[in-house]
Amino acid sequence: MIFDILTLFPSMFEGAFADSIIKKAVDNGFVSISTHNIRDYSDDVRHKTVDDYPYGGDAGMLLKPEPLARAITAARERLAGKTPLVVFMTPAGRLLNQGIVKELAARDSLILLCGRYKGIDQRITDQYVDMELSIGDYVLSGGEIPAMAVVDAVTRLVPGVLGNMDSAETDSFHSGLLSHPQYTRPEVFEGVSVPEVLISGHHANIKEWQRQKSLEITKERRPDLL
Ligand code: SAM
Repeated sequence: MIFDILTLFPSMFEGAFADSIIKKAVDNGFVSISTHNIRDYSDDVRHKTVDDYPYGGDAGMLLKPEPLARAITAARERLAGKTPLVVFMTPAGRLLNQGIVKELAARDSLILLCGRYKGIDQRITDQYVDMELSIGDYVLSGGEIPAMAVVDAVTRLVPGVLGNMDSAETDSFHSGLLSHPQYTRPEVFEGVSVPEVLISGHHANIKEWQRQKSLEITKERRPDLL
């Protein structure tokens, strides 16, 4: 999986991908991540301007279409031979969920476009973007954090990334339910014991307990998932 990220702030991604699962996935060649500054595609050599006032007199600035079109075209050229999906991160997009994450993980490459200011010119969305994605019903200052969420969630599902695929399969949402509670040692913590069934060694009973707990928690917290 190749992630090609278009942003005004490439340095925001440095720390985010420098540790743990994502770093290992990159080091082991399961994913490749590159960031590209949209300013490099400005035609304004001197000031590298990429924004302008919106028609209609709204407050704030918009990302201009020309640098974005050039940045997306360059990303497609970098990914020649692949079939990249151009994903624009926006509060107006489809709400990201594990089903969409699975869809994205099945692709060979993603071009993630991060908006800033009041967003981007609609003609880019109409003519260059394949999918609009939101990470929740709230407004962030830019698409960088949403893009990081997409990279992280998708990377977990790239075959080979998680040492034991079971750990993705028993995560929340994978089977449509929230995860059951988990316990580790010590067996008694501050007077509270681990549920007895988990130390019974009875595999079938443990599975059934986990399934029941998943159902209970999902019913209580996210009945919409059932
Ligand atoms: N004017 C836009 C609106 O009302 O939908 C919000 C613009 S926001 C301040 C700037 C950029 O942050 C957006 O273009 C988008 O790329 C990103 N962004 C903000 N919230 C987001 C969210 N919930 N999901 C995905 N991207 C988001």
